[in-house]
Amino acid sequence: MQQFQQYIDGTFCDASAQFDSLDPATGQPWAKMPSATPADVNRAVDAAEQAFLAPDWAGLTATARGKLLLRLADLIAEHAPKLAELETRDTGKIIRETSAQIAYVAEYYRYYAGLADKIEGSHLPIDKPDMDVWLRREPVGVVAAVVPWNSQLFLSAVKIGPALAAGCTVVLKASEEGPAPMLEFARIFDKAGFPKGVLNVITGGPETGATLTTHPKVAHVAFTGGPETARHIVRNSAENLASTSLELGGKSPFIVFEDADIESAVNAQISGVFAATGQSCVSGSRLVVQSSIKDAFLARLKEKAEAIVIGAPDDMATEVGPLCTERQRQTAVDLIARSVAQGAEVITGGTPIERDGFYFPPTILDCSNAHDADSLSHEFFGPVLSVVTFDTEDEAIAIANDTKFGLASGVFTQNLTRAHRMIRAIRAGIVWVNTYRAVSPIAPFGGHGLSGHGREGGLQAALDYTKVKAVWLRTSDEPIPDPFIMR
Ligand code: NAD
Repeated sequence: MQQFQQYIDGTFCDASAQFDSLDPATGQPWAKMPSATPADVNRAVDAAEQAFLAPDWAGLTATARGKLLLRLADLIAEHAPKLAELETRDTGKIIRETSAQIAYVAEYYRYYAGLADKIEGSHLPIDKPDMDVWLRREPVGVVAAVVPWNSQLFLSAVKIGPALAAGCTVVLKASEEGPAPMLEFARIFDKAGFPKGVLNVITGGPETGATLTTHPKVAHVAFTGGPETARHIVRNSAENLASTSLELGGKSPFIVFEDADIESAVNAQISGVFAATGQSCVSGSRLVVQSSIKDAFLARLKEKAEAIVIGAPDDMATEVGPLCTERQRQTAVDLIARSVAQGAEVITGGTPIERDGFYFPPTILDCSNAHDADSLSHEFFGPVLSVVTFDTEDEAIAIANDTKFGLASGVFTQNLTRAHRMIRAIRAGIVWVNTYRAVSPIAPFGGHGLSGHGREGGLQAALDYTKVKAVWLRTSDEPIPDPFIMR
């Protein structure tokens, strides 16, 4: 079996504990992964703290940090095929997606490389004539980045990129499910020329995550994962009072009006919910379709869903591969059973595929007579679409906003004024109009409510890794007159 190592203080090393990683396409172990002990976590955080203070990182100009990030971006692009192959092997994410996504991950690092020397302070028009006051933006310190297994290279890029651009150092805890791409990423990072300890990559389960996120030397926790774990993260932050950014799950509405370009909407819905085998936080997993076109829309959707090529994740022809874990597959089975008992009707799919590995077919559930079905409120993180109908625009808005989440949303209409009304009315961090699942390093990404807080991507994300220092400089040569008056 292949053996992976953790990366601490610029050195690749074993952990005293290990665990087997399963190949989701076969369900069999294929590699041994290090499981970071509390001592490993402490070493990683200490290394990050020392690197944060050391002149070879703290003393670098922002432009020089940007150049290192650019070099990293080039190395990622160069090694993209290997990274894609490992992510596919360890998580089951299909090679067609990992190849395209990792090439784009390099663009995220390029974006933050360019941003490094554009993180500016400001000068204040202070209300005292003999004072000059300005704000410095300084890096927050050691960042703990905790990521789930889906799209780890991407989800870590939106943390590592802005954190390093701002001058922080990072301990990244890869997911215990499918950590191989992150441990290989560490090898690429190591070639880029950063000082040792600037990035440390460890892996392990909830205990490792808890040790890291409660660590007294951690200043900020950048977390992506589920809402339940996020509650632990917030409680953990009571220990070290670290700031947090939380990118959590979703139950995003995909709203189709009768005037939409139907073929475009069907294609966007298919990729919006079945891409990444449904394991996407922005999955458009609630189809909210106008009653007048429901039958025609569902017929076309079913036809396309049933034509999806299900297969081995390393086959370029595959469009839907296995789920990452048996647990994910069981979640889908249980949630569908509950929803059917609550009145949902299975239009297609619905039961696991009989073959080795964690396969589950694209599934459509008609919930138009089962508005309380759990499938409309619970995240599947699998290839399952739940359908409800509406008659009026107000109904569409009410259904779209009837969720504790608030990550993404899609609106399909050719009516410009309606599109603008919907954009204002929907409570979500992202509204896609006549498109879905488009992302860019330039655009902020994140949600409200149970979908978390904070934004990744864009300028704001880099600012979130800084703290503001107010500097007061007295410009008068006169002696300070009276020590007891407020100045
Ligand atoms: P998860 O919450 O179970 O785990 C996420 C990470 O947290 C893992 O690395 C895990 O080891 C760690 N962890 C678990 N318990 C911890 C604890 N007590 N303290 C510290 N760390 C701990 O999530 P998952 O099941 O791996 O991933 C799926 C979830 O992630 C879904 O809800 C999905 O929507 C969400 N997600 C969100 C985004 C986004 O950007 N909004 C992107 C991808 C995935």
